[in-house]
Amino acid sequence: MGCCDAPGLMPIEEALDKMLTPITPVTETLTLPLPDALGYVLAEDILSPINVPPFDNSAMDGYAIRLSDLEQNPTLPMIGKSFAGAPFEGDWPAMTTVRIMTGAKIPEGCDAVIMQENTTVDGDNITFNQLSLRPNMNIRPTGDDIKVNDVVLKQGARLTARDIPMIATLGISHIKVFRKPVIAFFSTGDELRPLGTELQDGQIYDSNRYGIKPLIENFGCEAIDLGIIPDCPATLKSTFERAQQQADVVITSGGVSVGEADYTKDILEQLGQIGFWKLAIKPGKPFAFGALDNAWFCGLPGNPVSAVLTMYVLVQPLVAKLSGHSEWKAPESIPATTRSAFKKVPGRTDYQRGIYSIENGQFVVESTGNQSSGAFRSMSLANCFVVLERERASIEVGETVQIQLFNPTLF
Ligand code: AMP
Ligand code: MG
Repeated sequence: MGCCDAPGLMPIEEALDKMLTPITPVTETLTLPLPDALGYVLAEDILSPINVPPFDNSAMDGYAIRLSDLEQNPTLPMIGKSFAGAPFEGDWPAMTTVRIMTGAKIPEGCDAVIMQENTTVDGDNITFNQLSLRPNMNIRPTGDDIKVNDVVLKQGARLTARDIPMIATLGISHIKVFRKPVIAFFSTGDELRPLGTELQDGQIYDSNRYGIKPLIENFGCEAIDLGIIPDCPATLKSTFERAQQQADVVITSGGVSVGEADYTKDILEQLGQIGFWKLAIKPGKPFAFGALDNAWFCGLPGNPVSAVLTMYVLVQPLVAKLSGHSEWKAPESIPATTRSAFKKVPGRTDYQRGIYSIENGQFVVESTGNQSSGAFRSMSLANCFVVLERERASIEVGETVQIQLFNPTLF
């Protein structure tokens, strides 16, 4: 290979640009009960209808006082109690204190809460031992966290396990979200067998659907699994037609190389348009992108590492845009020092699989070993991609490379 590998191959940046430019985000919305909204993209800003906290309340278990009372006498009689959910009611005479629990409403006129650890209790008489007193100490004021009409989350945010309780704090029970994009996918290949069957000579298990489905779901889309389709042009064509009726995106794996049973590209030419095919990346060169009548098309290479890698690197940004997930960001590149050599020839951007760690505050990275696009163990062992620039050749120990850490909630 070498430099002669590059002509006719599209650089990844150009491919991403070609894929993303024509995509318009879904516009259909639905209103969901809050607990069902995890992973959906917000279709509206979330404004707080209330102050949080809604009333001044105690940050400690202790005693509500007026500082001016304490200046006159360090011992005050307790005349009542304020519990979380059951505030002190009635008059609060001067020169007395109110027992108060964490989260309980602060009585009118109180300007400090003294934690109980700083008191001595003798029957109903409380002696305050604390030396440094500050106005409003241990009081959480109304709206301290969030004020009425604060924008708490913006349209385009994808709801996480941190966002759901945030919205619950505001008392909002239903929220408007964009519908999830629907992605239909299938594996192609006469050699592929489903799990639970015996392999005959020349057959292998279909692993790509098991890599593609969780990624679709983790990207926040709905997955339709159309199974394994044999290398038969008529069956492939009818599956494509069925898939594009049901989905926003059709994803295939296999059949996009130049072998004699690689029909995917021909069928795409009949049913739609090919945007591009063949990228200057390794692995993943035979990735194809195009448009069917009713859906976008992504043709992943059959080799399992290539399939999952192109899902992550190329399909992920596409579905982020389609979802309306405007806060999505591409994985960051971080410089790391190599602790093993990485073999490479110039011509394509390599996404090698690496294991990073931190030594003395610096990122270091080593190869997972066998980098064949068919050797999925390299993906399973890795915790990052080692992204080696197109024109770079082999890397020695001690050189600086860019790594992209895997997002553990995704991959
Ligand atoms: P293809 O792109 O169809 O030429 O396939 C390239 C390589 O990937 C071949 O070795 C296939 O057997 C293998 N392959 C294709 N699809 C899958 C799959 N779904 N699961 C595991 N391996 C696959
Ligand atoms: Mg095949």
